[in-house]
Amino acid sequence: MKVKQKGLLLVLSGPSGVGKGTVCRALLENEPSLRLSVSATTRSPRPGEIDGVDYFFLDDNVFRKMIASGELLEYAVVYNHLYGTPLPFVQESLENGQDIILEIDIQGALQVKEKYPQAILIFISPPSKGDLRKRLLSRGADAREVIEKRLCCASGEMKLADHYDYIVINDQVKKAVEQVRSVITAEKCRPHNLKPFLGSFD
Ligand code: 5GP
Repeated sequence: MKVKQKGLLLVLSGPSGVGKGTVCRALLENEPSLRLSVSATTRSPRPGEIDGVDYFFLDDNVFRKMIASGELLEYAVVYNHLYGTPLPFVQESLENGQDIILEIDIQGALQVKEKYPQAILIFISPPSKGDLRKRLLSRGADAREVIEKRLCCASGEMKLADHYDYIVINDQVKKAVEQVRSVITAEKCRPHNLKPFLGSFD
């Protein structure tokens, strides 16, 4: 008999430019049982982004009403815009045994851990500071001052890696994905995630 387990709540974050989006996408392709939580944001859609798929694009008033009515698991201001995780999707998925992943910033990740201590916080780290600089430069998306600002933020963010459950160094996407998958496998074997199974022996 297969006993139903609660879903795992994985939270992936790390400094800007570390490639967490790439790791997250590759992970979702390799773990079909994993679903991505779609965040809400007040920033405008970029070309090609779809409302309800990439984000729920909301105006400031709607977002603030969601905060006031407790509809967000966490929220934070990132680069002058509000971002948050809608709570109902997270609650329903976990209750249904669905594993989910949140790709959110560090402030948000720490809020999730406070409210939901079973959440598994995974910090995606660059292999080195030099490598992060190279990645930010090669994206060609940002001005020099923006890159320097992000590098400066990254130093502070690396200090917060200590609050995470796991650190995955992204020197190769394939390896990073395998490490996250190993974390998922190990977490599913933890006693608190096997309570229904253990209870089935009563
Ligand atoms: P972007 O605007 O480039 O898609 O995302 C900017 C930053 O916001 C990224 O670091 C991303 O991880 C973070 N972010 C996206 N969704 C959320 C969310 O729901 N909550 C928080 N706290 N951060 C988020």
